[in-house]
Amino acid sequence: MSLATRQLKTYGSGLVHLLFPNLCEGCRQPLLKGEEVVCLNCEALIPYTNFHLISENETALRLAGRIPFQNASSLTFFTNESLIQHLIHGLKYKSKKQNGVFLGKEIGKTIKDANWKIHGIIPVPLHPKKEAIRGYNQSELIANGIGEVLSIPVFNKCLQRTRNTTSQTEKTRTERVENVSGAFTLSKFEVLKGKHLLLVDDVLTTGATLESCALTLLQIPNVEISIATIAIAAN
Ligand SMILES: [Zn+2]
Repeated sequence: MSLATRQLKTYGSGLVHLLFPNLCEGCRQPLLKGEEVVCLNCEALIPYTNFHLISENETALRLAGRIPFQNASSLTFFTNESLIQHLIHGLKYKSKKQNGVFLGKEIGKTIKDANWKIHGIIPVPLHPKKEAIRGYNQSELIANGIGEVLSIPVFNKCLQRTRNTTSQTEKTRTERVENVSGAFTLSKFEVLKGKHLLLVDDVLTTGATLESCALTLLQIPNVEISIATIAIAAN
């Protein structure tokens, strides 16, 4: 690209920003330079858990005894009618892909701080039919944000959801585990052998989906699993 084209492009995006500034997802004020998705004031209101600093945190305890894992953490506490609920809802149902990448980057920073030594990221897959309807997998966007901060690859083809499960809400814990067990399969997984993998999902509730994914991944020789989600909700 020539310098002139590049300057024109920079000028163009500046003009677009001037005419249509990105607004904060929290307070709808224009975002300032360096701010992404939410302004600094709204970001300060996000209830970060700091679970990455505590090995026996609520996320780890919820999964303990069900699957072997190295580390587990959720970035925030999920509460109804909150900014974090709004960000996740936008990510899942309103094509606000940037919400996923932004929150993924925040997760990435915490994992970098905690020095988890991850080799690659596995987003919890959607069933292909569901992904086709939505147009993307929200967990993959979160994974991309994490991968960017940690400079590690996202493996989005190795774990696949082969059964389109029914909704997990309104089910008991046992029903949820039965609902997703055997719903995932491996494909072209040789590349994952011996790796420490980070399994990524949006919200942790019972953990049945993560449990089923982890059990599938653990069939690969010498794999270690860590887990990260954007939020932890009431069980
Ligand atoms: Zn704001």
